[in-house]
Amino acid sequence: MRSYNLWIGGRDVAAEGGAGTVRRSPAHGAELARFALGSAADLDRAVAAARAARESWSDRNAMERAALMTRLADLMQAGLDRLAEIEAEEVGKPIRDGRGEIAHSINLTRYAAALAWEIPGRAQTHHGTSALGIVSYEPIGVVGMITPWNFPAVTLFQKLPYALAAGCTVVIKPSEMTAGTTLEVARLATEAGFPDGVINVVTGKGSVVGNAMVDHPDVDMISFTGSTEVGRAIGEKCARQVKRAGLELGGKAANIVFADADLDDALDGVALGTILNQGEECVAGTRLLVEKSIAETFTRKLADRLSRLRVGLPLDPQTDMGAMIHEDHMKAVLAHVETARREGADVVAGGMRLTGGIYDKGFFIAPTILGKVTPEMSYFREEVFGPVISVTAFETVDEAVALANATEYGLGNGLWTKDLDKAHQVSKRLRSGTVWVNTYLDGAPQMPFGGYKRSGLGRENGREGLIEFMQVKSTFFRLGKRAKALPHAA
Ligand code: NAD
Repeated sequence: MRSYNLWIGGRDVAAEGGAGTVRRSPAHGAELARFALGSAADLDRAVAAARAARESWSDRNAMERAALMTRLADLMQAGLDRLAEIEAEEVGKPIRDGRGEIAHSINLTRYAAALAWEIPGRAQTHHGTSALGIVSYEPIGVVGMITPWNFPAVTLFQKLPYALAAGCTVVIKPSEMTAGTTLEVARLATEAGFPDGVINVVTGKGSVVGNAMVDHPDVDMISFTGSTEVGRAIGEKCARQVKRAGLELGGKAANIVFADADLDDALDGVALGTILNQGEECVAGTRLLVEKSIAETFTRKLADRLSRLRVGLPLDPQTDMGAMIHEDHMKAVLAHVETARREGADVVAGGMRLTGGIYDKGFFIAPTILGKVTPEMSYFREEVFGPVISVTAFETVDEAVALANATEYGLGNGLWTKDLDKAHQVSKRLRSGTVWVNTYLDGAPQMPFGGYKRSGLGRENGREGLIEFMQVKSTFFRLGKRAKALPHAA
């Protein structure tokens, strides 16, 4: 079992009081890691370390910051196998996905390092010969980052390298269940040569460490990824302090399949959107909207594909889908299925816990299809966060768009058609921060990511992801002798 303390000021530091929590595998029950349960006093120490490191870090040449980030990416590359195993085991996800997640985190770091080379800024030279304006971007300061359990590495790396490139120092509060990769990365950053205090990690409860972070007067910004419920409360607290908050929240994505799509591609993408990360994903394609003329055949073929997937242990390379994060969450997902059934949906496939053999020691659910789901049913509106997809048939483009938008969330949506006009028009009408056309869950560090509506505020990744962590300053220079503003008083 791995045992971790906090990471403060470039050092391994025991939590005040020494309390800890043990993470067991959600797939086979074995003890994986012990994480420290930090206190508000521990958070104070970490914020002080970040504050102390702030000026020397932000005053460095940005290319020096980029060089350290590139070294961190190299160390992560060298340690990819270990990081991927930790990620897969703690979350319960397949090792294949764990590897993909760490590889993507490395790419995000390399891209953000490149962005540091061209931090924007401009000179305004057209105010006459005796005036000059400079618009500069400065780091916001100390950033508190709060991350969830489903993609511990990627949700962190959509924030951390951009904040570092901008010149911020950070204190991270990962999920108390899946903090392993975050702590490993903080250690690697010190090995890469990052100055003490630039990256700090305080593990523990959201209600204790997270809460103290949001309230802390020396934390200049909160960058949060998690549920809409917690994000809304954090946003309110930040607003009262006039503190910037970046919020990456829940989702309820739709995959719209038109009859003229490449149906084989669509089946593959819709299946992936259902089961990737056990459906524990903010952009899980949890609602299938399918044109009526193909709805029955498409649903039958989807059930066939899902039935052939291998649900298994995280470290088995053959596993397509792993275990749910914990028992209560598994029960909550099954309760959503039960409610849908009561409200009139058909359970076309799955719908139950898997049992027997390896399944008896973990929290496994069969990939599930709910037929005949209408927008009035609670499933259509509520985030379920499991390997479940609903099927709703539509007849017109307008109807498809209205159904897709009939949710308070707006993180991502997908659409499948070979008609370019339709693809463009529908993607413009979808109210979400990301739209995938003839693919699903593709991403690139250069493409901003974030939510419309209740899915969040702000953007991660891309140039926008860098600017999130910066303040804009206007500096106005008067050159030569200044004309008197108050001539009578001169
Ligand atoms: P959560 O909101 O329960 O917890 C997220 C983090 O907030 C954890 O570290 C938790 O300890 C902390 N926290 C909890 N209460 C807090 C409080 N009062 N003050 C400060 N911090 C607090 O979310 P979760 O269950 O870990 O993750 C699942 C959710 O995350 C889903 O809703 C999912 O859609 C969302 N998510 C969103 C994105 C995105 O990019 N938009 C990505 C991944 C996950």
